[in-house]
Amino acid sequence: MPIDLSVYQKILSTCSAYKAKLVAVSKTKPVADIQELYAAGQRDFAENYVQELLEKQPQLPSDIRWHFIGHLQSNKVKQIAGIVHLIHGVDSVKLLQEIDKQGKRIGKTIACLLQVHIAREETKFGFDETSLKAFWEDIFSKRLFFDHVQIDGFMGMASFSEDQDLVRSEFRSLKSIAASYLPNGIISMGMSADYQLALEEGSNLIRIGSLLFGSRN
Ligand SMILES: *Cc1c(COP(=O)(O)O)cnc(C)c1O
Repeated sequence: MPIDLSVYQKILSTCSAYKAKLVAVSKTKPVADIQELYAAGQRDFAENYVQELLEKQPQLPSDIRWHFIGHLQSNKVKQIAGIVHLIHGVDSVKLLQEIDKQGKRIGKTIACLLQVHIAREETKFGFDETSLKAFWEDIFSKRLFFDHVQIDGFMGMASFSEDQDLVRSEFRSLKSIAASYLPNGIISMGMSADYQLALEEGSNLIRIGSLLFGSRN
């Protein structure tokens, strides 16, 4: 499907008003769609399945910055270590250790965001505030030092809800967590349905899929 570049331009100008970065979420979409947005100047794209990323990446220009936004299993880190620009969903020490190990193997420091569970909805993924605090203390007090991992910030997803106050308060909680741990870090929050709220609440990186590429099946 051809991409509506006026939507792209509009999102870009909103991003620039908030000094935020736009990551185009291309999951399930064909390489041709990515090429179209690439031709319009977009360089940051995101996938959420390892296999899909591995299939698409070699078919596309090498200056694309690939973001991994799905749940990453430790045993798959090795496959994407060399091509990934930023891993958004790190939610355990075990995963961080594996990323560090693979970074060491290929001589690359791999940039990561810690995923924080901010939505009211139940999910298995992401740190809650208590486990994040414990994790942070472990890393810094016990000097679990990962020299091939760089923690650049935080990522979160708000509830899938019409309740704007709820969504806003969830974004606000991530912003406040991010500010207390890494004041100048990346705050990856906001998707097609809620990016405006996310930007108003302090996001500096939005992940937009369906608004750019059309809805997914
Ligand atoms: C799919 C996905 C997005 C993009 O969702 P849209 O609603 O299509 O914009 C953003 N972040 C994550 C983690 C996703 O899995």
